[in-house]
Amino acid sequence: MTTPTLSLNDGHSIPQLGYGVFLVPPEDTERAVSEALEIGYRHIDTAAAYRNEEGVGAAIAASGIPRDELFVTTKLWNDRHDGDDPHAAIAESLEKLGLDRVDLYLIHWPTPAKDNYVNAWQRLIEIRQQGLARSIGVSNFLVPHLERIVAETQVIPAVNQIELHPAYQQRDVTEWAKEQGIRIESWGPLGQGKYDLFGTPAVSDAAAAHGKSPAQVVLRWHLQKDFIVFPKSVRAERLKENIDVFDFTLSDAEIEAIDALDPLDGSGRVGTHPEDFN
Ligand code: NAD
Repeated sequence: MTTPTLSLNDGHSIPQLGYGVFLVPPEDTERAVSEALEIGYRHIDTAAAYRNEEGVGAAIAASGIPRDELFVTTKLWNDRHDGDDPHAAIAESLEKLGLDRVDLYLIHWPTPAKDNYVNAWQRLIEIRQQGLARSIGVSNFLVPHLERIVAETQVIPAVNQIELHPAYQQRDVTEWAKEQGIRIESWGPLGQGKYDLFGTPAVSDAAAAHGKSPAQVVLRWHLQKDFIVFPKSVRAERLKENIDVFDFTLSDAEIEAIDALDPLDGSGRVGTHPEDFN
């Protein structure tokens, strides 16, 4: 099964669907990632903070899949924004992953109260120039944070990875990103199971109509909105289900019904607000 790719604003491309390993325990990660690669996933989303980069690297090494067929993302953690520390942090991540470069390196959170994300972004620009990351981007950045890094460096991130699912669509961020050519990656694409997306008629009716599961309908909604997704599961049957989303298309009416699930007051958010995560 081949996953479609999307182009990035730096000329590179990214598989639109991948496998995210947040909360996959370090001791289970090699097995889980090996299984995902076996099933056909070619895009892995990890982070220094997930403490499972070694397991990701071990699975990649064992797979024998040519490096240029894989897309690997990792992220700079919040306590490493200052001074030259991002350079040390990427070196440590690459060592753990057993790679000489990642495909995408992200600032994990802006931590605005610390006021050091512009320095971190300048260091990521250097990391890209050194060839240690092919593309660079950010995560959990709101419009003011994005405006500031672009104004101060003139370098536009390739992606912004944000909490995004039908109950929390962050339209202000996605619209600004679209104008600037920044791709959106949806984290928590299924609402982390905390919000009953699957029981809503907009999702369950479309699932019944297409003979698909509610999770597949929600993932399909992301794909048709041009978002990048990497749902997490450690169960083989769900890994298979989550990549089996390229043989049906939601109608405009089905997409609009799912669009309408956002209460628009922020109450659908399942994670921490980026202004408060410092
Ligand atoms: P998710 O919405 O993918 O939810 C994961 C949960 O959904 C799993 O624990 C599982 O119980 C359930 N699930 C998965 N597949 C299912 C299926 N087919 N049917 C029913 N339930 C299913 O949330 P997530 O794991 O938080 O997000 C995905 C990835 O996004 C993470 O693994 C990580 O890579 C990334 N992420 C990034 C940030 C960030 O701050 N940048 C934060 C959280 C997650």
